Amino acid sequence: MSEFLPFTRPYIDEAAIAAVGDVLRSGWITSGPKVQAFEKALSEYFGGRPVRTFNSGTCTMEIALRIAGIGPGDEVITTPISWVATANVILEVGATPVFADIDPITRNIDLDKVEAAITPKTRAIIPVDLSGLPVDRDRLYAIAAKHKLRVVEDAAQALGSQWNGKRIGSFGDFVSFSFQANKNLTTTEGGCLVLNDGDEARLAEKYRLQGVTRTGFDGMEVDVLGGKYNMTDVAAVIGLHQLPQLEAITERRHALAKHYFDTFGADFEKQAGTQLPVKDFANTNWHMFEIVLPEGVKRSDFMAKMKEQHNIGCGVHYPPIHLFQMYRQRGFREGMFPVAESVGRRIVTLPLFPCMSEADVARVAAAVRASLSI
Ligand SMILES: *Cc1c(COP(=O)(O)O)cnc(C)c1O
Repeated sequence: MSEFLPFTRPYIDEAAIAAVGDVLRSGWITSGPKVQAFEKALSEYFGGRPVRTFNSGTCTMEIALRIAGIGPGDEVITTPISWVATANVILEVGATPVFADIDPITRNIDLDKVEAAITPKTRAIIPVDLSGLPVDRDRLYAIAAKHKLRVVEDAAQALGSQWNGKRIGSFGDFVSFSFQANKNLTTTEGGCLVLNDGDEARLAEKYRLQGVTRTGFDGMEVDVLGGKYNMTDVAAVIGLHQLPQLEAITERRHALAKHYFDTFGADFEKQAGTQLPVKDFANTNWHMFEIVLPEGVKRSDFMAKMKEQHNIGCGVHYPPIHLFQMYRQRGFREGMFPVAESVGRRIVTLPLFPCMSEADVARVAAAVRASLSI
């Protein structure tokens, strides 16, 4: 059988490994000059907006909610189809998650349903750009302005994506990115938050390190409860090395996604009863290539065939959050978000990562056809 093909694999080159070695030998391994340099490079990338780094994308969103002053009694609207972190951070700050169903084509939050879910208690929206396909930013910010809501963009998957020619992160309210191992740019684990001004950035610095402010040689004050969320220089140097490569990484992902569409062919969706992703080559960074299986196909059977007969790993991104036990205990039930439930049962992530070859794509497409008996 052919070599195992995972659904993703991080891209780390020898120069990045050497740079990590240099940091480890330098005598300064936690937050220091590399974190500062990475934040400066990110800020330049996002058109000069303030940026702070953290040790995960999850705490990045939690801190954005804290900076916005969101807590008990407040409602935050988000999508049921995301990594569970997106909703967990709402609970973490003591606020109430409110889900709005998704659009079946984009698989992103349906903005009509967001508007319908707004109550006097609503304080913020957390949209997610699933697979890097951006939520309509014009409409999103029109809704936020009309109802005076904060936005924490969960752009964990959208680094390198665009909206009408503008980079995601270069405009808007809070924008959160993740540098977890599977993301388009990785620091092994990590994240960053794009903020609006210096005051927010200073508050972010406090929240990420025990609420501490230092002054002069020996001054120290603590005036808010912060946590331990700082990025290390070991991690930051990997990001610093990868950021200039991001454009090439995104181009490679585009080429592979395009090859998927070409290989599957125009009639594939009709033949197979499947749904391919939105064929977008302007906005998305092609973080993932996800298909939605036909109603009658059991996803676990399909994934077993892909693995056992073709040695190909697939992923599931994601099961609906509201049907997890912890959310059911908060009153969420089957039937509340039917589109999310249907897509969440049938969605499968096919392999897509920069060091894959066109032949790998063809191998996956053939295996998908064989596994669906078409
Ligand atoms: C990866 C991811 C996160 C969380 O990021 P971590 O760095 O793993 O904490 C949140 N939301 C989405 C949509 C993600 O893909």
